[in-house]
Amino acid sequence: VNVHVLRSKISDNVLYILEDAGELVAVDPYDSESVIDELRRLGGNVRFVLNTHWHPDHVNGNDAVLGAFPEAHLVAGDDSEIINNLVSHKVDKVLRAGDSLKLGDSELECIATPGHTEGHNAFLCGDDLLSGDTIFSAGCGHCKFGGDVGVLFETFQGVIAKLPDSLRFYPGHDYAIRNLEFGLHVLGEDEAIFAELSGRSANFEVRTLGQERRYNVFMRVGSGDVQERVKASFPDAWEAQFAPGRSDDEVAFRVLRQLRDGW
Ligand SMILES: [Zn+2]
Repeated sequence: VNVHVLRSKISDNVLYILEDAGELVAVDPYDSESVIDELRRLGGNVRFVLNTHWHPDHVNGNDAVLGAFPEAHLVAGDDSEIINNLVSHKVDKVLRAGDSLKLGDSELECIATPGHTEGHNAFLCGDDLLSGDTIFSAGCGHCKFGGDVGVLFETFQGVIAKLPDSLRFYPGHDYAIRNLEFGLHVLGEDEAIFAELSGRSANFEVRTLGQERRYNVFMRVGSGDVQERVKASFPDAWEAQFAPGRSDDEVAFRVLRQLRDGW
């Protein structure tokens, strides 16, 4: 599958068009004008508009794209009911975890990645992961609008951590530089974060999960060293998130998410 990356002209979203054997799918096409132009330029058969979750900056372009390509179908996962209340075109096909969608000679597999929203899904296609707002480069999605940080932690531990290093991931936003600066803010000096930050340009760059595991603080919460550094620098925040039976990994994750919200 070919992944075409588009920067939204009306927001900080990153938009994706997948292409395989003349078939196309538009993922979370918020800036519908840019997406429609690119679909026309690429040519081919627009099969699907695909949503990772219900947030307006992911679904609000659906109607315009589906209006321009009436042969396409709207596909979403566990947030489908909410999406049906937000946009005119109803979800034509609901994918559940483990379901897949055929695109040309490829298969897109639906993975449940709740936390940023209750019904958030990611989509896996060969070595490419459309991660929506679950994992960002050097960060993760917030849990402010219908999300739950404990659930997001479970997704990082139970789902993301099990995916192979070789996967390239394509997030719904790019805050990499700011996220890396946040990493240095919470951990103090950190070689891996510093190395990534100094090599970064201001533009979106594709990374693998293996690379990400080195400098994404939310993927490093299992490290005793990271836990100690967070605890030492933010003892009050640590105390506030501490609860009997809650692992130090989870406390660290919650503290980091809370600090990032206010940073
Ligand atoms: Zn979102």
